[in-house]
Amino acid sequence: MANVALIGLEKAFGTQTALKGIDLAIADGEFLVIVGPSGCGKSTLLRVIAGLEAPTEGDVLIEGQGALSLTPAQRGVAMVFQSYALYPHLNVRDNMAFGLRMAKRPESEIAAAVGQAATLLGIEDLLDRRPKELSGGQRQRVAIGRAIVRQPRLFLLDEPLSNLDAGLRIHMRHEFARLHRELKTTMIYVTHDQVEAMTLASRLVVLNGGAIEQVGTPAEVYNAPRNLFVASFLGSPRMNLLAGEIAAITKSTVKVRLVSGDVVSAAVEAGRAHIGDRVTLGVRPDALVIGKGANGVNVTADVVETLGGMQAVYGLLADAGQPVCALLPGAHPVRHDDALRLCFAAGDAYLFDADGQAFVRLKARA
Ligand code: ATP
Repeated sequence: MANVALIGLEKAFGTQTALKGIDLAIADGEFLVIVGPSGCGKSTLLRVIAGLEAPTEGDVLIEGQGALSLTPAQRGVAMVFQSYALYPHLNVRDNMAFGLRMAKRPESEIAAAVGQAATLLGIEDLLDRRPKELSGGQRQRVAIGRAIVRQPRLFLLDEPLSNLDAGLRIHMRHEFARLHRELKTTMIYVTHDQVEAMTLASRLVVLNGGAIEQVGTPAEVYNAPRNLFVASFLGSPRMNLLAGEIAAITKSTVKVRLVSGDVVSAAVEAGRAHIGDRVTLGVRPDALVIGKGANGVNVTADVVETLGGMQAVYGLLADAGQPVCALLPGAHPVRHDDALRLCFAAGDAYLFDADGQAFVRLKARA
């Protein structure tokens, strides 16, 4: 196990800035997941921690010790890549043993370590096979096994499941959660996949343009996003964002006049709000229900996707043309061109100022 501190990390490739002022403390045994759009610097950050890339500025401490002068092996980190990177001419046993053989460990110790890791991963029956004789999921397990036998202080995982089909991804996601529970080793995991991020992380880091937008538990980041970027990045389908201006302020709500003319309430701390300020109101698709209430909007359904028990209805806000998505129960199918009134509780609404910064939600804080 290891704690890691990233201090003022910057990384530039020529004129391209990949990391900007990254400050982060990662505790012993944490499962930290880094998410963000393509090109935001996720892999670069992992490679800097691993020692495969040197930062332009800043420092990396592992267990309080400066790591920049250490090789990847000296850092005690093991990296698992999306591409498995197994040796095709070696069988599973020798692939897993490779790192320990290079480190000239005794054969008896190597055999014990490979046996233990194979049992943990349920691949004891595959030890004599070559990589080409394995499925994608089995190859990924061998790649993880090769990392485990080295007993690293820190696992760095770069989109390890993205080459697998949907079913296998879910299975391996559960395997990662179990492995982390059993090994208790610090893991830093990069993914594009929201569900992986939300379900595996003890803490989530949202990266954008090389900088950290927000760090917190998945529930904190989902329920109390700091800004519009985080709010719209996490959640699928993504949060509805409707332009408007502040029409009234009460003790427990801020009322917003939307472009459609509807006046709706968000239960947020008024703080810096003034009547007439331009704002963006956010409502997640699963917070919308068909109803007749005052806190709602009129929408014309356009595309309806049937998802078994649920339906995702994509429509346009009446008189404003802004897109709105609602996740509704499938029992009463909605059709193209249906006129719907979609309502929400003031406590389920989010509000962002003209700079995209979130107002504090009264419900999220409770
Ligand atoms: P993806 O999700 O698509 O894998 P990412 O978030 O992992 O992306 P990085 O691979 O870390 O992003 O890249 C961050 C930025 O740095 C990108 O703009 C990329 O083009 C640039 N970059 C990365 N490696 C290099 C390199 N060796 N030389 C030049 N630019 C690079």
